[in-house]
Amino acid sequence: MARRHPATIAARAGIAEDTAYGAVTPPIYLTSTYELEAFRQPGPYDYSRSNNPTRDVLAEALAELEGGAKAIVTNTGMSACLLALQLLKPTDTLVFPHDCYGGSYRLFINLAQRKQAFHIQIVNFQQPDWAEQVQAASPAMIWLETPSNPLLQVTDIQAVCQLAEKLQAKVVVDNTFLSPVLQQPLLLGADLVVHSTTKYINGHSDIIGGALIAKDAAIGDELKWWGNCLGLTGGALDAYLTLRGLRTLSPRIRLQEANTVAVVDFLAAHPLVKKVYYPGLPAHPGHAIAKSQQHGFGAMCSFELNAEPDYLHDFFAALQYFTLAQSLGGTESLICHPATMTHASMDAAAQARAGISATLVRLSVGIEDISDLIADLEHALEQVALRLTV
Ligand SMILES: *Cc1c(COP(=O)(O)O)cnc(C)c1O
Repeated sequence: MARRHPATIAARAGIAEDTAYGAVTPPIYLTSTYELEAFRQPGPYDYSRSNNPTRDVLAEALAELEGGAKAIVTNTGMSACLLALQLLKPTDTLVFPHDCYGGSYRLFINLAQRKQAFHIQIVNFQQPDWAEQVQAASPAMIWLETPSNPLLQVTDIQAVCQLAEKLQAKVVVDNTFLSPVLQQPLLLGADLVVHSTTKYINGHSDIIGGALIAKDAAIGDELKWWGNCLGLTGGALDAYLTLRGLRTLSPRIRLQEANTVAVVDFLAAHPLVKKVYYPGLPAHPGHAIAKSQQHGFGAMCSFELNAEPDYLHDFFAALQYFTLAQSLGGTESLICHPATMTHASMDAAAQARAGISATLVRLSVGIEDISDLIADLEHALEQVALRLTV
């Protein structure tokens, strides 16, 4: 049968498969343990850290969505990252980008420096000599995050995977910012995909969760073994809620993306906005690669206010529909100030190197009516303009 489309996979996962009562939606199996069929005759399930039928439905859907052989559903996105790192030995080197998620950055640095778990080499994949930098490190694993946070820089997944094949390195892509609806890294040559399902996949900002998807079945089995051994797997109720969120992933992200395009157009034309970062803009340096490897430009964007950072206080205070909070990917619009929030653990020099200025603002655009969102931004920018003129 032909590959199913993402919207169909998400809407149909586990539907009408209940063998007990014919329930259309998959039941939630809230049990820690399972009865044996008889002495020395185990049933299909034995203990929920290892396997749980509700979590399995979500895992199968995520594996199919990403085009992988196996998915492991974890209790957090960070657990999914930690799980992927189990493939490394102390003599191996992990290459990762200078602008990856702050929690991943902290995990890599601390496991390397405090636990000697592996060697690390940070590479700026935006520099023209990135391939030489990677080659010089002779890595066992290359970690990618594209588009990156908060400047939405794009990395050519296929080009990195071609180099990785020569170096016999595994490529892991953190696909949290786009979801499998907008990007499928395994089909571009990656070996593993990581998700914080907390973001777009659940999409309702009411769960913390993660997933690791492996292209290869044997590697998937090894990682599943580690997930059980380390106790990183997710709970049944969280799996159920994430599955419920997943049903609408495709229409949600499409609407959020359409709203983002309108927000970006509005911001780009506003005199109080210095610069807008969005891969959908033809002037964005990653536009061409994004167009070729993504199925859309996503619903995250950033911009720089054309005023002193002090005025951000007035701007944030005046907003009604952009909630000042970390995280992203929910149906509600969020706004954040990377320099003091998501990237506060970076010192000023590291922020400057990463291009994170004091006036940079990041938006996660939700599904609210677009005219309300634009009116909200317009009103808040007007408050800044009024203060500038007094
Ligand atoms: C949020 C996030 C994570 C970590 O996920 P948690 O669910 O918060 O543990 C990892 N990578 C990216 C890109 C994220 O946005």
